[in-house]
Amino acid sequence: MLQKVLETKRVVAGFTDRWDGVSKPPYNTLNLALRVGDSGKDVLENRQLLAEKLTIKPSNFAWMNQVHSDKIVPVIKSGEVLKTDGLITTQPELALMVLVADCIPILFYDPKQKIIAVAHAGREGSFLNIAGKMILKLQKEYNSNPQNIKVYLGPSIQKECYRVDQKIIKRFKKQWGEKYIYNNTNLDLPLLNQDQLLKTGIKKENIFVSKICNHCNQNYFSYRRAENNRTGRFGGIIMLK
Ligand SMILES: [Zn+2]
Repeated sequence: MLQKVLETKRVVAGFTDRWDGVSKPPYNTLNLALRVGDSGKDVLENRQLLAEKLTIKPSNFAWMNQVHSDKIVPVIKSGEVLKTDGLITTQPELALMVLVADCIPILFYDPKQKIIAVAHAGREGSFLNIAGKMILKLQKEYNSNPQNIKVYLGPSIQKECYRVDQKIIKRFKKQWGEKYIYNNTNLDLPLLNQDQLLKTGIKKENIFVSKICNHCNQNYFSYRRAENNRTGRFGGIIMLK
């Protein structure tokens, strides 16, 4: 269920795990994503359970049809936003949702400007610097000062588990340097995202990083761990009250 990482009078944010949902086998769980082999009815019921936790209407979610891009769009109403990997809103009681199973779910909150955002940072999103681009967009279009923005990186696949082929290693090394290559074979995406955020002026003490590896920890879905990559998705959620 939802584990909150932030709750004030103005905002609530958290990350879900696999448990306490209604999905039938093979998931048996709180899968929040449509179109990953689960019944749509169960997914909607799972979202309803989550809405109760947030005390909002089940229809008040905005989520993405994520495509590993660096596209970020503003939203003012609920529903699915097609082909995007970042959402921004200033709308109260609209819960922004990012769904993952190995990628990094990132939540953003500017308490001064009263803006929230979410991003989906998988391998491609991280390569494209979606986290850094989000901050630049908040700065340019919403008059946000990076010094005020708090950022939450949720459970994701950690460097020890994230082995990739050498072509990908080369590509990352060329673009981002040696620092994010672990043991010559693995990528450290959480570290890369943190550095991308720091470069935009986000304060180190305002970046909160989950140490949970969803690939090791059975409380979370993992695309790589799942047989035939058939698995549900857990979520990062943030909402202005
Ligand atoms: Zn792991």
